Amino acid sequence: MKITDIHTTPLKIPYKTPYHWAQGTVNDAVVILVEVHTDEGITGYGECIGTPSASVIQVHLNLAARLCIGRSPFENARLMREAYHSLFQAFGTCSSPRYAGQVFAGLEMALWDVMGKAAGRAVHELLGGALRDEIQYFGFPQGESAEEVAAHARQLSDEGCEVIYVKVGRGELLDLEIVEKTRNAIGTSRRLRLDPNEKWGALNAIRMIQKLVAFDIECVEQPTDCESLTALAQVRAASPVAIAADQLVFTPYDVFNVCREKAADLIVLGLHETGGIARLLESAHIAHAAGVNVCIHGLYESGITTCAANHAAAAVTNLDDGNQYMNHLLEWDIVASPDLCLHEGRLPVLPGPGLGFELDVDAVGRASEAYLKTAERS
Ligand SMILES: [Mg+2]
Repeated sequence: MKITDIHTTPLKIPYKTPYHWAQGTVNDAVVILVEVHTDEGITGYGECIGTPSASVIQVHLNLAARLCIGRSPFENARLMREAYHSLFQAFGTCSSPRYAGQVFAGLEMALWDVMGKAAGRAVHELLGGALRDEIQYFGFPQGESAEEVAAHARQLSDEGCEVIYVKVGRGELLDLEIVEKTRNAIGTSRRLRLDPNEKWGALNAIRMIQKLVAFDIECVEQPTDCESLTALAQVRAASPVAIAADQLVFTPYDVFNVCREKAADLIVLGLHETGGIARLLESAHIAHAAGVNVCIHGLYESGITTCAANHAAAAVTNLDDGNQYMNHLLEWDIVASPDLCLHEGRLPVLPGPGLGFELDVDAVGRASEAYLKTAERS
């Protein structure tokens, strides 16, 4: 089988309500749809995250895609290695594993989709087989005010989410209010995780954690700057609450360093950081050897990433039970099937073949028009 053509299309999907977090407010998901066509009539789909500039990422993605034409989709890992060399390593000064991960993720997952469809198997079956029947996700309440976050948290808890995860890092008074109101809303039986998204810093994080420990916090995610392994290790050494590493970790080498320095109790990993499914599993294996669980990260993404991450998660030995889910933010999705709504905070491990989804062609058209309208204005 040969790859004959690869199309990339920037899309914008609006959010139901603005998404508030420590670094600002987001109103939509901008992604780049990747379509890999083959000489056997099989088409595979993936997506890249399109921020901060879909047109810039698309240029680099198209350079990588061009290298794949005429090659077999079953050369996935080799193609990704060659693309990294050609686009980045070959120029020395441009070595950029993190950015490359974002550029290559959609291409890599589309190649997995082709491979699964060609084999008539789900992608998780090609990854060694699912280790579980379902993936558990945390309830991720949204809102601008503490009251809105807490009310949504109560709803998600009532719907069966066992882990509730809220964004903080939005100012000390608001953070304290969010945590107190959310804990009161979900009661004592649910686990509560906080994510200040680098905004607290080491000294302040230790102080904030001391204040918040009374609310039975299960975990605090990436309270410190994404570039300082030392700062995260410093917080973890002083914290009575478990610490997770997120923005600090993109590559297998990052995972190794976090584990070696004992900087985190949990590692948050996403396909758009690692550069796709294979590197996510490679990274997870390193954490497993260190006795650290991995949970799946979410970004401004469509159901394509939800499906791809579900297949990868099915094969992660050390998968945590609080994984990130972003579909509830979307006003509408570009995936027509399967149903990606959570039931009691869970999705089944998705069947194939491939990544196992059908695109909603009309929704893709709407999302393309929405992106083009934005591009015209900028
Ligand atoms: Mg995070």
